[in-house]
Amino acid sequence: MIEVPEFIVCVDCGQKAGRLTPPPEDGWEPGDLVAYRCSGCLDRWDLVVDGPAESGTPDTEVAFDLRAFLEERRSRNREDAG
Ligand SMILES: [Zn+2]
Repeated sequence: MIEVPEFIVCVDCGQKAGRLTPPPEDGWEPGDLVAYRCSGCLDRWDLVVDGPAESGTPDTEVAFDLRAFLEERRSRNREDAG
């Protein structure tokens, strides 16, 4: 069963972002879209649920690859700001 966190930390402002999407009746599945709303900057974050981590991954509390998503977004913002 895939666990999706109730809150994530917004990389833009460091505030908590609460989950908007309620858990599906059958539980989360890879590919499901989960939306979060930041309590600080009110930014919305749409994340895609990834499959359960393969063995050997030390950091498994977040089911999706949030870090890669945020890195990608950050680099995109940087280009926009340029
Ligand atoms: Zn924020």
